[in-house]
Amino acid sequence: MRYKIAAGNWKMNTNHEQGLDLARAIVQGTEPQEGIKVILGTPFIHLKDVVEICKGNTQVGVAAQNCHQEEKGAFTGEISVGMLKSIGVDYVIVGHSERRQYFRESNELLAQKTKAVLAGGLKPIFCCGESLEIRNEGWHVRYVKNQLKRGLFDLSEEDFKKIIIAYEPIWAIGTGVTASPEQAQEIHKEIRTSIAEVYGTDVAQNTTILYGGSVKPANANELFSQPDVDGGLVGGASLKAETFLPIIEALSPKA
Ligand code: PEP
Repeated sequence: MRYKIAAGNWKMNTNHEQGLDLARAIVQGTEPQEGIKVILGTPFIHLKDVVEICKGNTQVGVAAQNCHQEEKGAFTGEISVGMLKSIGVDYVIVGHSERRQYFRESNELLAQKTKAVLAGGLKPIFCCGESLEIRNEGWHVRYVKNQLKRGLFDLSEEDFKKIIIAYEPIWAIGTGVTASPEQAQEIHKEIRTSIAEVYGTDVAQNTTILYGGSVKPANANELFSQPDVDGGLVGGASLKAETFLPIIEALSPKA
């Protein structure tokens, strides 16, 4: 089902106390509203406690920022989907550009991780997005479509319906440079069209597609009012309740 979502990606920030304080402030500041969801993508060490903090608030869900593709075994330092499920995590961010770039996660590996998340009963937030070089060369639409094709498009329709997509142009992540609302809308529409080509118009219309890349209170309204932008995956501005709560508010259509 298509939701309006503000998802925070805390990355490798906040110690345990800071993380729990932040989660509490966001949960306390979030008014329940039909069709709107908030997701907290915290470091692994906070997850169990943040799940507890969110209990009873159906609006707020919890995401891990990564997982391993295998169920269990000799993979020192890794975390499986089953482990995340056992503590009540709802979502896993798959294929963030930092994982693709610094940890060399390929489309093929991300397809495996996505399937592992679904098999484990959690929901993937699947990231895609092009570099500045690709955008300047003008083939960003083709590049992103290829990421979707190789990462997602051999899923069954039933599984695909559980996917949240986050389009995050790499040149806008953590740089302070935001895609213009028109740039975001252009590619979100293209993403929806390619979903329709594979799974049909109904599935495409019901897929949640988030924009990520320097979303902040000052630009969230305009970005989220684009017809194919269903909210944001937010890094820097999700680290403070003062900046994340106004972004959550920007999801509600203004009267
Ligand atoms: C992100 O980490 O996914 C992100 C979009 O970061 P920022 O909002 O800081 O650009």
